[in-house]
Amino acid sequence: KFQLNQYTADCMVGQGAFGKVYRAKDSSGNLVAIKIYNKQQLRHRWIGKAKTALFAVKCEIEIMEKLEHPNVLQLYEVIENDVCNKIYMILEFAPGGTLNEISPMEEKEALYYFKQLILGLEYLHEKALVVHRDIKPQNLLLDEHNNLKISDFGSAQEMANGRDEFSNSAGTWAFMAPELHGGNGSFKGRPVDIWAVGVTLFYMLEGKTPFNGRRLIDLYEAVKNQEVVVPEKYNDDLKDLILKMLNKDPDQRASIEQIKSHPWVKLV
Ligand code: ADP
Ligand code: MG
Ligand code: MG
Repeated sequence: KFQLNQYTADCMVGQGAFGKVYRAKDSSGNLVAIKIYNKQQLRHRWIGKAKTALFAVKCEIEIMEKLEHPNVLQLYEVIENDVCNKIYMILEFAPGGTLNEISPMEEKEALYYFKQLILGLEYLHEKALVVHRDIKPQNLLLDEHNNLKISDFGSAQEMANGRDEFSNSAGTWAFMAPELHGGNGSFKGRPVDIWAVGVTLFYMLEGKTPFNGRRLIDLYEAVKNQEVVVPEKYNDDLKDLILKMLNKDPDQRASIEQIKSHPWVKLV
C-alpha cells in the first residue's frame, strides 16, 4: 500500500521485465493502474548496443502520450520523482485481466476480441503511425465491459515521416515474424505486427502458439520453414485468414485492410 499524490495504491496486479504494476484509486475513487519504473535500475540495463532501458521507457511514454482510442490502453498522467528516482505511469485500469488468462476460448468469442484488436491496430498503424512490436495475449487487457485494450508500448516505435522500416528487432520469441529471426537486415514494421496478431488469434483459439521448439533454434526453424497447421474443426474462412496473416513473406502477408474485409471478420 502506498500513496502517490492523489492516488492510493492497494495491490500489485502485474510484474513486467522492468516495472511493477499496481492497482490504485484516485481522489474520486476511480480505479487506475500505476506502472512503476526505477530510473537508477533502468540506467544500468542495456538493451542493444547503444540504448539503456531508461531510453526505452522514455520512448514508451512519449508514444503513449499521443494515443487515444477505445481499444488502446489510455495513459492519463506521468509522475517523475527525482528524489526516489522513480517514474510512475498512471494508466487506465483493466480489471478483466489479460487475453492470455481466458484462452483458449470459443471461436465466437475470439472473433469478438479479434475485431477490437484489429480496430486498435488500425488506429496505431494508420492514424498514430506507431508499430507496437510486442503484440501478444499478455499485452491485451480487458476492461470491465470486456473491451479489449492494446497495452505495453515498451517495444513500440514511431514510423517517422511514414518510413516503415526498422533494423533492430524486438518482441517475444514465439510471436516474432520469420524475417526477425536471426535477421540483421531491415524489415517493415506493420507486417511484423500482423504476424503477431496471427499468432495471437491462433493462441486465443488453441491456448498455444502455432510454432514451438525445445530450444530457441528449433523455434526459429519452425517459424521460418514449417507451414502452420490449423486444426480441421475450424471453418475454411478462419483457416484462410490465419494462413494469410502467417504468410512467411512480409510483402505477401495480409494487410489491415484485407483483414477487415475478410469473410471471417466482416468489419467493412
Ligand atoms: P512489461 O512491459 O514489463 O511486460 P506490462 O505493461 O505488459 O509490462 O505490464 C505487466 C503486466 O501487468 C501485464 O501483463 C498485466 O498483467 C498487468 N497490467 C499492466 N497494465 C495493467 C492495467 N492498466 N490494468 C491491469 N493490469 C495491468
Ligand atoms: Mg508486457
Ligand atoms: Mg513491455
